[in-house]
Amino acid sequence: MMLDDFKQEQPIAYKILLNSVKKNRCSHAYLFETKHYPKKNELALAFAKYLLCPHHHTNSIEADSCHICKRIDDGNFTELKIIEPDGAWIKKEQIDELQKDFSTKSVESKQKVYIIHSAEKMNASASNSILKFLEEPEDNIIAILLTDNIYQLLNTIISRCQIISFQDFPNSKEHSTLEIIANMIKNTNEEIEEFKNDEKNIDKLDAVVRFVQQYETDHKKILLNIKSIWFNTFNDREGMLEGLDLLILLYKDILNISLSLPMDIFHDYENHLVSLSHMLTPVDICHRLDVIIEYKNYLKVNANINLLMDKLIIELERRR
Ligand SMILES: [Zn+2]
Repeated sequence: MMLDDFKQEQPIAYKILLNSVKKNRCSHAYLFETKHYPKKNELALAFAKYLLCPHHHTNSIEADSCHICKRIDDGNFTELKIIEPDGAWIKKEQIDELQKDFSTKSVESKQKVYIIHSAEKMNASASNSILKFLEEPEDNIIAILLTDNIYQLLNTIISRCQIISFQDFPNSKEHSTLEIIANMIKNTNEEIEEFKNDEKNIDKLDAVVRFVQQYETDHKKILLNIKSIWFNTFNDREGMLEGLDLLILLYKDILNISLSLPMDIFHDYENHLVSLSHMLTPVDICHRLDVIIEYKNYLKVNANINLLMDKLIIELERRR
């Protein structure tokens, strides 16, 4: 896909990106706040093509006969590097390798571009490495960071970037909760398909809904039942991360309901969520979200996962 393909769906981002090159006002670093837009990775790649192609192609008719645009699409262009989470995290070694690759002189283009998908998944040491990289920008290197969860990035990283906010992607009720979540938490089309088609993932949705119901109705009992409610479904670090992500999305939907806004995700569980919303004030829900986000960050520094859930519940209690 080329930049012009996004004119309708992301008109504001489209215009800013186009003008930044046309008016010669390119930033050293862009942070795309992607808001779960399904074609976010394609848009980042289209922008990279626009930057790197000497003809600055923006539409597929022109690009059809362009060997540079084609090589970028094929992943065969040395001045473009794309970093994706390796497992649950983006690691320091990945950033170090990028810096090493980019320390040599450009051969194919006067510019170099790197894209970081799911930038919020950089662990602490990767975040520090990228920060140093952003603090000493080189004229010919442009960074494109993508995130659906800008609040999980270091403020120091955010402040070094030009933020491009995407427009909200409307989640229609025609999509199942599982489909919507697949688009939100998975990166590649392959992963999205796999997640949607795996029946076991419905158990995960059931588990988080059950966890919240049990916690909100009888919070004293939850620690006793934590194994059957939580750990039977989320039993390793990666699972735990997924579980906490789902928990955050669930409480966000309860918050929507309590503020009389439309639900985004958990339509399939509407009745449960509506009754939960009657038990909680918006302030309660924000406290829950704060604690869960905080504990999700502890996973990045290798916290013990069995203890983490107990501590999280105790912390929820403390702030009740
Ligand atoms: Zn081209």
